[in-house]
Amino acid sequence: MAHLDPTVSSITLDCDVDAPNLALILPPINDDNTQIKEVFTSKKADFLPDKCITCKKCVDEHFCEFGALSWDFTKETPIIDYLACEGCGACRILCPEQAFNIKNVKSGEIKAYKTIQESYLVYGTTVLGSTTSGKLVTEVKNFVEYPKDYKMLDLIIVDGPPGIGCPVIATISGLDYVLLITEPTPSGLHDLKRVIEVIKQFNIPFGIVINKANIKSLFKKKIMKFIKINKYNLLGLIDFDLIIPEAMAAAMPIVEFAPRSEVTREIKDIYNNLKSTIKLN
Ligand code: SF4
Ligand code: SF4
Repeated sequence: MAHLDPTVSSITLDCDVDAPNLALILPPINDDNTQIKEVFTSKKADFLPDKCITCKKCVDEHFCEFGALSWDFTKETPIIDYLACEGCGACRILCPEQAFNIKNVKSGEIKAYKTIQESYLVYGTTVLGSTTSGKLVTEVKNFVEYPKDYKMLDLIIVDGPPGIGCPVIATISGLDYVLLITEPTPSGLHDLKRVIEVIKQFNIPFGIVINKANIKSLFKKKIMKFIKINKYNLLGLIDFDLIIPEAMAAAMPIVEFAPRSEVTREIKDIYNNLKSTIKLN
């Protein structure tokens, strides 16, 4: 668990652990304040050559459902493909000599620091080939499960990954409100419908923002109709504007990079709608 400065009033969690990028626009206030925690939520098989009697059953009898075992004809031993291994433990159970061990391996890292905006950023990064993104998201969220003395902490913003997979479910669980960002495209509408089904399982209130709302697409009407028919809460629209990639290239939040731009006005409108919806201070 992180020991964070209790005077901060907000924390941002970047739970898009396969591609975290909020650190680009929320850099640390100084280089010395980053806390790092290694996370070991992945399991992998480890071959124990001293126990092996080279019977080759592990390969000939297909112990591994994930295709992670092959045979080294030079050494007369099995080879483990660590990227394919899911750590299920079947090889250890089936091997007559128990010549495999199952060990925890590093699946990612969590970093936390005070930003130049004087809030906290906490984010996770997965190790290449790790298949435990959902567990890492949970570790990121637990990292800031703050004790009672963090009285000033009144807002935790959680940036989730795209899609509806395990990391999204891990991100959504336990939240007070979900802000869904979609785009007027076939995949945007498709994913929006599916993620709403997931959110309904958790019974969490949500609102919708349509990004790139000004691109020419039949799907803007379809999304608007879908929202209207279902009486969902549309919090606002953000138009596509080249000022956004310019702000990203400058590694700045758009509201700081172009405070008088139309996009900033749209984002502020959404914030105000959100404030009145969830009664933020
Ligand atoms: S089944 Fe076990 S003992 Fe036989 S070759 Fe494979 S690892 Fe070695
Ligand atoms: S632990 Fe499971 S996935 Fe990994 S090599 Fe053994 S059987 Fe295959």
